Order: sequence, then structure tokens, then C-alpha cells
Amino acid sequence: MKIERTDYNGNLRKEDAGREVALCGWAAKVRKLGGIEFIDLRDSTGIVQLTVNDPDSIPDVRNEYVLHVKGKVGLKKDPNPSLPTGEVEVIVSSIEVFNKAETTPFIIADKTDALEDTRLQYRYLDIRRPYILNKLKARAKIVKDFHEYFDEKGFLEVDTPALNVSSPEGAKEYLVPSRVHHGSFYALPQSPQLWKQLLMIGGVERYYQVAKCFRDEDLRADRQPEFTQLDEEVSFLNQDEILALNEGFLAKIFKDLVGYDVPLPLRRIPYWEAMDTYGSDKPDTRYGLELRDLKELLKDVPFKGFEGQEYIKGIVIPGQGKETSRKALDELNLEARKFNLKGLLSLKVESGELAGSFAKFLTPEQKKALIASLGLKEDDLLLFASSSYRRDIDFGLGALRTLFAKKLNLIKPGTYDLLWVVDFPMFDPVEGEPGKYVAEHHPFTRPRDEDLPLLDTKPEEVLAYAYDIVINGYEAGGGTLRIYDHDTQWKIFKILGLSDQEVAKKFGWFIDAFRYGAPPHGGIAFGLDRLAMVLTGTDNIRDVEAFPKNLQATDPLSHAPQPVTDEQLEAVGLSEKNK
Ligand code: ASP
Repeated sequence: MKIERTDYNGNLRKEDAGREVALCGWAAKVRKLGGIEFIDLRDSTGIVQLTVNDPDSIPDVRNEYVLHVKGKVGLKKDPNPSLPTGEVEVIVSSIEVFNKAETTPFIIADKTDALEDTRLQYRYLDIRRPYILNKLKARAKIVKDFHEYFDEKGFLEVDTPALNVSSPEGAKEYLVPSRVHHGSFYALPQSPQLWKQLLMIGGVERYYQVAKCFRDEDLRADRQPEFTQLDEEVSFLNQDEILALNEGFLAKIFKDLVGYDVPLPLRRIPYWEAMDTYGSDKPDTRYGLELRDLKELLKDVPFKGFEGQEYIKGIVIPGQGKETSRKALDELNLEARKFNLKGLLSLKVESGELAGSFAKFLTPEQKKALIASLGLKEDDLLLFASSSYRRDIDFGLGALRTLFAKKLNLIKPGTYDLLWVVDFPMFDPVEGEPGKYVAEHHPFTRPRDEDLPLLDTKPEEVLAYAYDIVINGYEAGGGTLRIYDHDTQWKIFKILGLSDQEVAKKFGWFIDAFRYGAPPHGGIAFGLDRLAMVLTGTDNIRDVEAFPKNLQATDPLSHAPQPVTDEQLEAVGLSEKNK
């Protein structure tokens, strides 16, 4: 049977008036008024209103019934400007019910008070809500643009394995037991990092891929166990060229999806400037509340907590002195503690004077100097702290900055802030363990040429060719130039404290390839989910994935993960019987 369909519902306009149409879709809303029945008919493109002048002539229609409708397009007497099809109605001549529907667990409408877990349990119904479907469409458009843009730039799409050798890149891996080799495991990729570098050694020169990645980390509003990267790698380009290439792609998706002309070239903020100014390596610069260095002003204050601390910094919150109660301050303190920042202090301006428990430590001159150099005004609140770790004090105050921006509604909806954070440190010193380092990005990141001599003397000061794209305070992507000579790569592993045997065991298969002519190369990966979030205006990553996991990393729809049978375990060598 061929289903006759002349149009998609969302496309009908006043120019179609007078046409006979055949439509398909779901009854989104059914209501009777003065002997006439009105049905909103929904399909993947939108909604059009059906008007049934003789309700007795059609079968019983209820919400979410699947219908086949024939009729004639007419002009509405009172158009509905909130609907693209709002100027027309379809005067129904016949309706066939393809399928009935039970009463749905929640109403299929953009505004819903259904719990998210209920929506995820019935995700197929949730996807009928234009709110979700439109986000999936936007996501698909980004992918289409990715293909178009990089295809045109001569990139080759290559897909890389999902079953990999375990290679700790930072996050925890998902492991897959081998049926053929009991006791051995594959790991799902955290990213195609090593493969794409090998493709460069393989002479591919320009690679791209829409890549599924898996990281077994605790979930947050912007993190899922599996996510999708728009992944790339190129040979023989320097950092500026790679950034410019990718700015073109960003400009394209912003134009296509939200009609925004991204001002190019994008601003580049060095990592430490971002950290020291905004308390974040992914700053949202749409508002101020910048971090202030108070070391000079407060270093002589006889306050025990400052003794031996290298950094004293603060943040001024305008007009929040009275508003911020003792209890609120305690809560802010707890927030700062999450970022290792102990002992948040505060001062406020009351009748032109600095007040608060810390005021007793200050001389009148120091008070004056603070007010003058920070430009404090009546009722301003100054929050500050000390630490011997630069990252701790920056991140701690940065968290408060974000918190107040939300509380004070400082971010204008529908505005965009795109920038690169560059010059990341190569290593992150392990707190309390002098001489120990972890890689800030990954160990294949290339140190800046001018910093190479520091590798032997002050590794913590070595900066790398590493760049993150930050959009509205989200890290929407990141990449690096890679080391392409064997000796530097070994040196980095040594600084990271790996023995020759460990390196050989973990990465030998990979770095061996560098002995056979590796080109200078580098790349980047965008988080597709995060791009889709920013471009569709949601803070919830689950809104932009068709079938996401909930915050407990389970799927309320299919109930994954589940225990498996003993037979299944035995087959992969994991049952008691295999012991
Ligand atoms: N593989 C890196 C990541 O997942 C991105 C890159 O360096 O290209 O963050």
C-alpha cells in the first residue's frame, strides 16, 4: 500500500490555500467548539490545524492517534501568529486512523512538568515534543556543516576502531572482555587521539571524523558517558593556521544555526591570563566580576591565615553587601572548599567604611587603600582568600564568579562569547608532591619551541601548543600540536614519571611509529553535544542527545546497564566457573 501524502504539515502557507492535500501525523490536540472539531496535526516538520465541520463523518480521534487526513487548505479567519502555519487551516474531507494511542504518561507539549526520568523512560514520546526534536535537528545540521566544510577543505573521513587497547588518557575507560582471549580486555576509545596521529604518519595529511567517545566519569549537566566528537587532525600546519581553519567552521555553524556573524579572528587569551582574571580556563567573558590581586594590599596584615601563602586574591560583588547574610557566606565558603580553597573571607562597604569580621585586622590606611584601589562602592561585597596554589585560588574564586553571575542574572540570553584559550601549561604539578607532574592535556602535546630548554629545569613553567575553544563558558573543544620526534616524546614520559618499561608497555606500539618519519601535525576535537547545547540554548546535555543516560549513568528506557547471565559471563571468562 502506498500512503498518499502531498505535503508535510509544517510547510503549509497561505499560498497553498485552495489546494487539496493529503497529510499524515499525530493528533497533538483535539477540541470541539460549537459543533466543529479542531485537531492539531503534528508531523516531523510541525503542526497544522485541521477543521472538521462534520465531526460525525470522521472516526473518533484522541491525542496521539496516528492519522491520514485528506482535505483542502483554507485561510484562517483569525490567524495564529505564533505558528508558522498559523494563517491556514485544512478543511477535512476524510480521516483514516492508522493507529490508536493509549493515554500518554505525560502531555506531549513543549511545556511539561514531567520528571526527566519519566521523559527518558518514554523518550520516544519526549522526542515528539518539538523542544527535543528541534534540538536533534540542530545537532544534525552541525554535523552536516562539519562534513561540508571539511570535505571542501580536502579532509578525508576515516573511521577508527571502537575496540582498542587500554591506553589511559586521563578519564576512566569502559572495558570490554574478550571472548576469544579470556582475561584480556578491549577498551572503548576516550577519543581517536592515537589513531588520528597514526593516520598523519600514514600520510593522510587531513583527517576528520564524527567520533563516538566513551569516558566512565561521574556525570554532570554537561557530561555523558558517551559523547560525540567532531575530530580532526592535519599535517604541516602551525597553530595559527589550525585555529584559523577551525574559526571558519565555527563561523559557518553560528551563521547557519542562529544567524550570528562570529567576529573573526577570535580573541586568544593565554591560559594564565584567563585563570588569573576569570578564575577559569574556560571563561565566560560576557560579564565582569574579575578576580583582583590583593597580595600587595594585604601582605602586611597581621592575619595568621596569610602566613606563608603566596597568593591573596578576591572578587568584588557590587551591591551584595547587605544581601549576603552570614548563612549565605557559609554556603559560599562550602562552594569554595569544593575547589580546595579554605577559609573564604569577606568585607563589605557600610556607610563608606569597610565592615565585617576581617575589618579588625586592617589599619585605617589599609582600609582606605582597599576602597580606593578596588574602586569599592557603598554596599559592595569583597570576597577573598589566600593559598599557596595558584590554580586553587583561581578556580575557587572563579567558581564564586560564575555563581554570582547566575544569581545576579548578568548573562544576557541569546548572546555569544567565543574565544580561544591558548598557551596551556604542559604539566600540572601534583599538589603536595614536589617534582611530580601530570599532563595538563595529554602526553603527546608539543611544548612550545622556546620553552624546550625548561623541560630539564622547570617543567612546571613549560607552556604548550595547546588551545581550547571556549563558548559561553563551555569548553566546546580543544586540541594541540603534537610531538613528532621520538626523543622529546620520551623526555615527556620521563617527566611524567613513567619508567622505560611502562612507556614501552603502554605506548610502545604508538611511539614506535614515530621512528619512521612522522610529519609535524596537530588537531582538535569539538564536543558535538556541547556545540549543540550552546547553539540551542540549553544547559542540559541530555536535551541534545536522542537517548541519553540519566545522572546515575543508567538508561531509564532500556534499563542499561543490566547484569548478564552466567553463560554470558562464562563465555568471556568472567564467571566463577572460569576460576
Ligand atoms: N583527543 C583530544 C581530546 O579528546 C583532542 C585533541 O587533542 O585533538 O580532548
